[in-house]
Amino acid sequence: MNLIKYITLLENKRIEKLYRHCTEYYPKSPSTVVLEGKEYVMMASNNYLGLTHHPKVIQAAIRALETYGTGSGGSRLINGTHKLFTTLEKELATYKETEKALVFNTGYMANVGTISALMGKDDLIFSDALNHASIIDGCRMSKANIITYEHCNMNDLEKKLQSYGNQSQNKLIVTDGVFSMDGDIAPLDKLVWLKEKYNSLLMVDDAHATGVIGNGKGSAHHYHLDHKVDIQLGTLSKALGSVGGFVATNSIISDYLINTSRPFIFSTALAPANIGAALAALELIESDTTLIDKLYNNVKYLSNRLQRIGLLATSHTPIFPIIVGDAEKALRLSDILKENGIIVTAIRPPTVPKGESRLRLTVTASHTEEQLNQVVDAFISIFNDT
Ligand SMILES: *Cc1c(COP(=O)(O)O)cnc(C)c1O
Repeated sequence: MNLIKYITLLENKRIEKLYRHCTEYYPKSPSTVVLEGKEYVMMASNNYLGLTHHPKVIQAAIRALETYGTGSGGSRLINGTHKLFTTLEKELATYKETEKALVFNTGYMANVGTISALMGKDDLIFSDALNHASIIDGCRMSKANIITYEHCNMNDLEKKLQSYGNQSQNKLIVTDGVFSMDGDIAPLDKLVWLKEKYNSLLMVDDAHATGVIGNGKGSAHHYHLDHKVDIQLGTLSKALGSVGGFVATNSIISDYLINTSRPFIFSTALAPANIGAALAALELIESDTTLIDKLYNNVKYLSNRLQRIGLLATSHTPIFPIIVGDAEKALRLSDILKENGIIVTAIRPPTVPKGESRLRLTVTASHTEEQLNQVVDAFISIFNDT
């Protein structure tokens, strides 16, 4: 067996400081982890509402597990659909004010499975330059023509909508609702205007918006455009504290996906505990608005404190990118933060473009003011040393 190609690639990654490995953490709480016996503040998780450790969510997972078993035993269309699935899909649709919601095994699979099913060889996809990898992979799998527009640049998008294709061609505009690595919000008002003008479908990936912006209902609700976005994708894995993805849409697209989406059809359904947990989490967000209030209090607090020490920070979403440019520098900063008891991962290419390596801080509803102060103090000491 010739492994030279792989060894060389790994070597190059090491040299360029892009080599990656998994670190084993013990997630003690939504805001703390234990690593080699020492406790750290976790500032790199997407567990925005801290629901992974909420007693009601844990109880619901246990109840689902005891009622329906450890695994679902088959795909959704064969024998994997149990009552919790039906209830969750109904509640997600009600929450998103859409006709239907369809659960996939992950957000990744929901993106890949939706885009590749809806779009084909002669179709056009207009995709934001900073869209998530799972959108990009879905576009590639579809074999459609992919036209990338500059990040959130509506003039560039319109120019491209005008110059590519014709009126009758099947078109899809696809964007992150909240961009995963930058934390900015897509200009959905303008996207809706353009999709109507150019007779296109609009799909929004709300992985970081669900349970976060628009009172938790996502980016379409944030803009009061709930009924104008054709396909809203969400994940159960971030703010909802479980695992899974979903697509909220009309009945035609939902039925079409059930009948054609290969990741939906050919994979065993999620385990009952996952669905039970997601359902309890959704019910919590709907009934207890203080969860999202707490998240935004923390977002505002951290944003203010970071601004006061001269870092660019907004308070629109819980994602704080601190762009440092160089991959090695990003790694070094994350090491220094770790010495100060804080976990912040260095985000490097290919997750972000070359030269845009960064620290990506995420704040959750579970962080205490004391923990956030510890983070800011660590940055202050870094600045004083350099
Ligand atoms: C995390 C993420 C996904 C994938 O969701 P998973 O449930 O983790 O597979 C899709 N899109 C965006 C923008 C994401 O950040």
